[in-house]
Amino acid sequence: MIKAIAGTKDILPEEIRNWTLLEELVRKVMRAYNYEEIRTPVFEETRLFSRGIGESADIVSKEMYTFTDRSGTSVTLKPEMTASVARALLEHSLDKRQRLNKLFYISPMFRQERPQAGRLRQFHQFGAEALGSVNPTLDAEMILIAYGVLEKLGLKNLSIKINSLGVPSSREKYNTTLKNYLSSKFEYLSEESKKRFDTNVLRIFDSKKENDQKIMEDAPRLLEHLDDESLEHFEKVKQILLSAKVPFQVDSALVRGLDYYTHTTFEILSGSVGAQSALCGGGRYDLLVERLGGRNVPGVGFAAGIERILLACENEGVLEIQDKKIDLYIVRLDKDEKLEKKVFKLAQFFRASDISVEADYLSRSVKAQMREANKLNAKFVLMIGGEEYERGVTVLKSMETGEQKEIELSETEKIIGELQ
Ligand code: AMP
Repeated sequence: MIKAIAGTKDILPEEIRNWTLLEELVRKVMRAYNYEEIRTPVFEETRLFSRGIGESADIVSKEMYTFTDRSGTSVTLKPEMTASVARALLEHSLDKRQRLNKLFYISPMFRQERPQAGRLRQFHQFGAEALGSVNPTLDAEMILIAYGVLEKLGLKNLSIKINSLGVPSSREKYNTTLKNYLSSKFEYLSEESKKRFDTNVLRIFDSKKENDQKIMEDAPRLLEHLDDESLEHFEKVKQILLSAKVPFQVDSALVRGLDYYTHTTFEILSGSVGAQSALCGGGRYDLLVERLGGRNVPGVGFAAGIERILLACENEGVLEIQDKKIDLYIVRLDKDEKLEKKVFKLAQFFRASDISVEADYLSRSVKAQMREANKLNAKFVLMIGGEEYERGVTVLKSMETGEQKEIELSETEKIIGELQ
């Protein structure tokens, strides 16, 4: 039997309700902050990600789904959205139409990771990007949007970590300080961290190896070596979060995987999902657009993992799947072809008024049709056929109260009133 590829998942009808609830909530919150939706292709030229995200980032060096298409172009399934949004902004000169573009997305992403709980190869993110302003209010806004969605879902076990990566000049100076600190301990670092020493020394903070972590505990922190402008920016972000009464912790070891960050970085974690506890991550990327060969357009954004959020909801028992309900089930009392046509016509009539209707397609007995109506949680059942049909009436039964009403077949529009 052919199965779905490891690390990919079918989202079955019983799960869809939660997905749509979450997506609707995201759209509602984004509307409140005046973010507009953008959709970009699932695949892009590989160099968009290698240039934009940077070769030293894990998602570029180890995790991209890259292949050469029939025309010989190297293409990649998008591993994240920011580079694509920046490309679309430049390609369509959105930044020339308005100075600040506030955009959001809900989209599948692809990374060839080792599949495990909370780590998929095709997963879904929602996120936002604000392009065109260096204002720290927007950094804080990103955290408020993401946290707002998670809170509105009813999640409790959340924590927010923030840090600042400053600007390249102070970061470069600090990198030398960090390298000096590490040089005497170099031989004790893991192989991975030894490589990062040259490619992206800051990322050694991300190492999961116990020994690396011990070494990094006493390492000098970038936060203590920030220039004044970066400190001021960070201070403003913290002040806004404090005034919005959002709980957060400063974590000076939070460096995140991507090269393009400047100033604020943040993560929102959940204590309810096990080892892969980050639900959301983001930060400011004032250099990305320029790096893609574009104009100087500063930006800030975040991405949140939908599967992990829904897992947290399940584990905390929030966002209970509500029982699915249809409005009406039409029960056909006789197996007569004319009646079948009438049922279909009636169903179409109600559906045109946005009433959800089901009828029998399997020539079931009346008893089996009633059972099906119950299983589908129908609010009402309309019975058609028999002696009543000959009298020109039909019987409407409320499944909640058991009450039955005869309604003239010539007055079916009355039923619509009863159902609403
Ligand atoms: P990132 O783009 O790596 O900052 O990830 C942002 C969020 O996307 C994470 O906090 C996760 O919730 C989610 N995410 C990232 N990678 C995966 C993955 N392989 N499988 C499932 N969710 C993921």
